[in-house]
Amino acid sequence: TVRTRFAPSPTGYLHVGGARTALFCYLYARRHGGQFILRIEDTDLERSTAESVNAILEGMTWLGLDYDEGPFYQTQRFDRYNQVIEELLAKGLAYRCDCSKERLEKLRVDQLARKQKPRYDGHCRNRSVDPRHPHVIRFKNPVDGVVIVDDLIRGRVPFANEELDDLIIRRSDGAPTYNLSVVVDDADMRITHVIRGDDHLNNTPRQINILRALGLEPPRYAHVPMILGPDGTRLSKRHGAVSVIAYRDLGYLPEALLNYLVRLGWSYGDREIFSLDEMIELFDLSDVNKAASSFNTSKLDWLNQQYLQRSDPARIARLLSPHLGQLGIDPATGPDLVEVVRAQAARAKTLVELAEISAFCYRDFEDFDPESAKKHLCQAAREPLERLRAAFELLAFEDWTSEQLKHVVEGVAQELKLNLGKVAQPLRVAIVGRAASPGIEETLRLVGKEATLRRIDKALA
Ligand code: GLU
Repeated sequence: TVRTRFAPSPTGYLHVGGARTALFCYLYARRHGGQFILRIEDTDLERSTAESVNAILEGMTWLGLDYDEGPFYQTQRFDRYNQVIEELLAKGLAYRCDCSKERLEKLRVDQLARKQKPRYDGHCRNRSVDPRHPHVIRFKNPVDGVVIVDDLIRGRVPFANEELDDLIIRRSDGAPTYNLSVVVDDADMRITHVIRGDDHLNNTPRQINILRALGLEPPRYAHVPMILGPDGTRLSKRHGAVSVIAYRDLGYLPEALLNYLVRLGWSYGDREIFSLDEMIELFDLSDVNKAASSFNTSKLDWLNQQYLQRSDPARIARLLSPHLGQLGIDPATGPDLVEVVRAQAARAKTLVELAEISAFCYRDFEDFDPESAKKHLCQAAREPLERLRAAFELLAFEDWTSEQLKHVVEGVAQELKLNLGKVAQPLRVAIVGRAASPGIEETLRLVGKEATLRRIDKALA
């Protein structure tokens, strides 16, 4: 059965690029009825932090990328890595190296001067090194032949062994290195498909060589092209929000972000909208682009807007509530938030924006939008507003319904022989502060009688 893993290093947040890798791993496993495993690669003790582990777990949970096994932590598996290193040493497939910094540096400088790629020259391969003195352990990479990475996205990528040197598998402080621990884990966890960023492509032939030395069958590999920012360089903080949790806080829905991420590099005809179940049904690694893709916020906004409109308003209301809280609004103090969502969801790109444009339902706005006020609250608006106010005042609270309110607004327009817009727009600006809101009777209903009268007074003052 298919087994995939997402193997982040906990040195920062869950980056959107990492989240896309995780999504691809998740989809591939689910599509094939297999398992998806989470492995935290925390061997870099200096750069790994507990906060980062939490941020990664939080991001995975928010996105709903549930894993079947894990999280496993590499720092808890050092004994196992050392066991494998000892095995390689015993079989003569690895060796101790005590080359000094100075020797290695001189080698590098000489090689560069000869326009050669710097690589370890195998000096200690056939020397015996006293294990009691400081040393590293290197893997004996095959000296000739070619390693072919038969990549599920990029096709066959050959690497000449000549180009690969004897890589360090245990540092002098005793810590196993990345390539060794990944290989041991992928084998022990019976990973069948390694799906990861293509920044790891150069590690793959080395990992294959170690696996083969251990008599193990390498998994299949799929290297996913990177994500670029708008300026064509690798997506990073410079381009704006890059962490998954930042997108949550900016008011994006997890399903919109997932949908956006799956389309970054994967396509299915010209279709744009995919639920998670549909992605599971349709995703395949062979449909992933070889070329890098660019992060495009306006497309994410568009998708988020689609999902805001399509989702259950009760759920959106629940998610919106904290964003109103950020504005100092307690939604319990005004109209039913679900109704507000029904009226407004199509008008906002994010939950943050939805909160902003819905604030008028819960509290008086501070200032009129200058352009709307200039256009609609001119002298000609006084009379309609005065008449509307008088008519609203006469409405009993139980008559404060869409139907009655519509009747009042239309009545005033007729009396004054004005078209409806000349009455409704000034009214809208008066009670919302700007010229955009749901239908006027819906808007009035959400604002309520008391606030409507108060705000008209303010507009007339
Ligand atoms: N821990 C590595 C990273 O965060 C990923 C290693 C892998 O997927 O093999 O880049």
